[in-house]
Amino acid sequence: MKQFQIEYNGKKEFLGELKKFKKTCEDTPKMMFQIFSDILEENAVKEVIASIEKVFPGVPWFGCSTCGNLVNCHITPQIAVTATVFERESSRLKIFQYNVQDNSMEWAAHKIIEDTESYPWVKAIELYFAFPKDSTTKFSEGLKDIRPDIHMFGGIAGNDDIAKDVSYVFSNVGGYSDSDIVVVFYGGDDFYVDSIKATGWKPLGRKFRVTKADGTCLQELDGIPAYDVYNKYLNINNDENFFHNTLEFPLLYEYNGVIILRVPMASNPDNSISVSADVAVGSTVRLSYGDPKTIIESIAEDSRPIKQFCPDVLHFFSCVARRTFWASDEPTYELDTFKDIAPSVGFYSLGEFLRADNYLSHHNVTLVIAAMREGEADVSGVQNVSEATSISKVPLVSRLATFISATSLELEEMNKKLISAAITDGLTGLYNRAETQRRIGQSLADIQNENLSLIMMDIDNFKKVNDTYGHQAGDEVIIALADILLGEQDRVSDKISAGRWGGEEFMLVLANTDLSAATVIADMIRQCFEHTDFPTAGTQTISVGVTQANAKDTFDVLCTRVDTALYKAKKTGKNKVVTM
Ligand code: GH3
Ligand code: MG
Ligand code: MG
Repeated sequence: MKQFQIEYNGKKEFLGELKKFKKTCEDTPKMMFQIFSDILEENAVKEVIASIEKVFPGVPWFGCSTCGNLVNCHITPQIAVTATVFERESSRLKIFQYNVQDNSMEWAAHKIIEDTESYPWVKAIELYFAFPKDSTTKFSEGLKDIRPDIHMFGGIAGNDDIAKDVSYVFSNVGGYSDSDIVVVFYGGDDFYVDSIKATGWKPLGRKFRVTKADGTCLQELDGIPAYDVYNKYLNINNDENFFHNTLEFPLLYEYNGVIILRVPMASNPDNSISVSADVAVGSTVRLSYGDPKTIIESIAEDSRPIKQFCPDVLHFFSCVARRTFWASDEPTYELDTFKDIAPSVGFYSLGEFLRADNYLSHHNVTLVIAAMREGEADVSGVQNVSEATSISKVPLVSRLATFISATSLELEEMNKKLISAAITDGLTGLYNRAETQRRIGQSLADIQNENLSLIMMDIDNFKKVNDTYGHQAGDEVIIALADILLGEQDRVSDKISAGRWGGEEFMLVLANTDLSAATVIADMIRQCFEHTDFPTAGTQTISVGVTQANAKDTFDVLCTRVDTALYKAKKTGKNKVVTM
């Protein structure tokens, strides 16, 4: 493959440039034109297209509006046109344009899968989205079953003002559209492709759980409003600088095993924040930080496989947030490492896409790079990049961030131990009484949704065990019963919590279990304990009370009832189960 930049300096000159380029071409090369425009007006692009169709009739063209055009690692203002010529007979190219205005994103995903089945030569799929009106998660989910060896990458078309949520894609197949997806299939026997992402943003500090979110509205982290996290930990205020201030500290989270960044775009009156694309409830997020030196080094590191690949051409999809981040410097400085690798073309986007581990993720603040080549790699020119070139002097910010992350991790682990100690009984490893009471209270609050039963048990004539065989032998008996209960808890962990209620009294809290099921479990435990042989204390028995909660029960009423059932078991001969 060969890539050529056709200078654009207005319509007239462009036509001349095209004709000049045509003279250098063979009769009918297999080729395509990519057009990137930071001008939103349709007419500007239409003139360019008209010229291309005049000089190169029938040659496919596609492109989009952008937040900045990138040609050979430089920003090219207005309109950037590149021609890519395929040199191998076997190389294939096919362009589609899917209408997601009248159809859904899932439909588009389905169509893409169908089309890959019709074109078995496909090795790479490039995606250009107009600003999506629908969740892109549905689109990605829909593509899960696409052939696993196919690379997928792409970006959301941009505009001249990131506050606007409109952008355009276009192609010779479907024309100019503010809602379509342009899809390019590349492949053939001699076509090779690789695709990677690089960010350079690094995790900072403790983890948070997304406890409330709706699409791109992130409401709560660890149960507190998302904005409060930015305010408390980073002293970022809810003012007109919110976007710029948070850009250094976007959210970093793992979704489908892939690390993804999301930028807070704005803070809302209810202290939720609008983020750059979907976030999922239940996922774990951290703040991240972008430090210029760390980013540059990280990109150099991440780009190694691309160097080794020996590409003919590179396609970039780089987030507009990166351009904004570097605004005071030269924004393309971070691309310098690619200059010597191959000619490149791409744009600053409003979202980047990359398939990894079979899942197409929607990224932000990310640089997605696709490397393409025809024929075997010519590795003779590749210098062996030595490991030693990396990170000679670690930036101070990076060291401080490592310090904060390590400290947070220690605190998190300490906290876990403290929480566990606070709710566990020391002798038996069961929940302690306070935790057991809390669990009963919580289950009682959820009782509308499901059944709740309690099993209370007490070792029979336990005083005699202590008096006859000693306190140590008594402890062994208590631990043996606790082990039976822990075994039950492990067996159905989502249903049963086992607690030590007092000295030799125990309580099982059984969610989603009615009285008859609880009674079966109770008698099983009673029998199991009865048949346990103790080295010194021989065999022992328990008495058991069982009850099921009803909607009117208070905590006290419920616990008194199970206690009364147990009392009745004691009064009527022990070693038995009584239900109430
Ligand atoms: P009942 O059949 O009526 O339950 O008779 P009991 O002897 O078990 O009655 P009681 O509840 O009066 O006795 C409980 C005894 O359990 C009293 C106490 O010394 C003993 N105990 C409480 N906690 C522990 C412990 O952690 N280890 C040991 N070895 N004994 C304990
Ligand atoms: Mg007892
Ligand atoms: Mg007792």
